[in-house]
Amino acid sequence: MVIIGGGLTGATAAETLRTEGWSGPVTVVADEAETPYQRPPLSKGFLAGKEGDDALLPYPASWYPENNVTVLQGTEATEIDPSAHTVTLTDGSTLPYAKLLIATGATPRVIPFPGVDLDGVHYFRTKADAMAMKELLSAGGHNLVMIGSGWIGMEIAATARELGNNVTLLGLEEVPLSVAIGRELGGVFLNRHQEAGVKFVLPSSAKEIQGSAGKVTAVLTTTGETLPADVVIVAVGVVPNTALAKDAGLTIENGIQVTGSLATSDPDIFAAGDVANSLHPVTNAFARSEHWANAIASGKVAAKSMLGQDAVLDDIPYFYTDQFDLGMEYSGFGALTKDADLVVRGSLEKREFIAFWVLDGRVVAGMNVNIWDVQDAIKDLISSARTVDTAKLADPQTPLGDI
Ligand SMILES: Cc1cc2nc3c(=O)[nH]c(=O)nc-3n(C[C@H](O)[C@H](O)[C@H](O)COP(=O)(O)OP(=O)(O)OC[C@H]3O[C@@H](n4cnc5c(N)ncnc54)[C@H](O)[C@@H]3O)c2cc1C
Repeated sequence: MVIIGGGLTGATAAETLRTEGWSGPVTVVADEAETPYQRPPLSKGFLAGKEGDDALLPYPASWYPENNVTVLQGTEATEIDPSAHTVTLTDGSTLPYAKLLIATGATPRVIPFPGVDLDGVHYFRTKADAMAMKELLSAGGHNLVMIGSGWIGMEIAATARELGNNVTLLGLEEVPLSVAIGRELGGVFLNRHQEAGVKFVLPSSAKEIQGSAGKVTAVLTTTGETLPADVVIVAVGVVPNTALAKDAGLTIENGIQVTGSLATSDPDIFAAGDVANSLHPVTNAFARSEHWANAIASGKVAAKSMLGQDAVLDDIPYFYTDQFDLGMEYSGFGALTKDADLVVRGSLEKREFIAFWVLDGRVVAGMNVNIWDVQDAIKDLISSARTVDTAKLADPQTPLGDI
């Protein structure tokens, strides 16, 4: 069993192979020189200096040798030969496989803004990126311009502001996060940031990153503002790492296209995590999720499929974010929310509420902000697909189980 990628998906798959009873060889090929780690703390507690390496590790470093799992840290897979069933590594050696999992994740999208190569312009994906940013931002007082106001940009901005930096975000939406959760709810996050002194130039992008002596000094926005900056972070989304799969002749369509069991177009090769675009049995549509819970759920399903078990990735998609004192969890089918009605239980002003997206009388997604232990009930409303009374849904006195 060979797994390419030492992120959360690869680590979970390796662990699942063992818990499901596979006793043969398992090798994880991991191009980062790290014990397999998860990324969510990088933009939050780890960047803030409140959490250390332990928070990053889904399994301790000792778990791998104890369970006879070989992790080739700092080793890139450079080629897959599906007919020979081999993976070529950076040193030219080849690794044979019976079943192969591609869990290569994603890489920050690079946009060729003029000046993007200046010193002081950063991307944020890896532990190394987070350590560099922590060292730079923890003293406070920097002028940080964030290009991008999606989940990761907003999280880093919140942490950087809490560390005492001047933070300005540029984003293409009039209200950040509105593509994902709509203007009204995106506004809750926008207001909290503004209250903390984070500035926004919306909608706008970077026309040019300006510098002097090779170092960034300012960002000129598409709206004509010049924002002083000594640190710029480009956080404009990610692209799935599909090159290996493409060269191996696998079907690529918004990532590596896989079945509900995470099989690629080659029966002995599977794909999971951020890189995989899988067929969801509920929506009967392909979706590529870039979230923590999907890395875990799909890592498990992929491992079971590699072992020949009947496994399907049919979880309700879930993700979470933490920004300042806003803690949020979301589950549901984002693609179905576009034409849905929004029903709010609780108070947007107090920032304590549950929002439901209701389509044709049924809940298709739900998001709780600063209200806890309701995810099971929200997922139950979604999975049961029962018709709901929206007045009861909006009424905090009616238990969710009674709706
Ligand atoms: C800063 C940050 C914060 C986040 N916060 C949240 C959050 O709050 N909530 C949430 O739900 N999600 C969050 N996410 C998203 C979540 O972390 C991802 O969905 C998850 O990391 C996906 O895991 P993965 O293993 O599929 O991919 P990755 O974590 O990208 O891991 C893939 C690994 O494969 C390696 N690799 C690629 N190509 C090769 C190769 N050829 N050979 C060997 N190795 C290779 C990569 O270098 C990488 O180490 C966050 C992501 C980031 C970056």
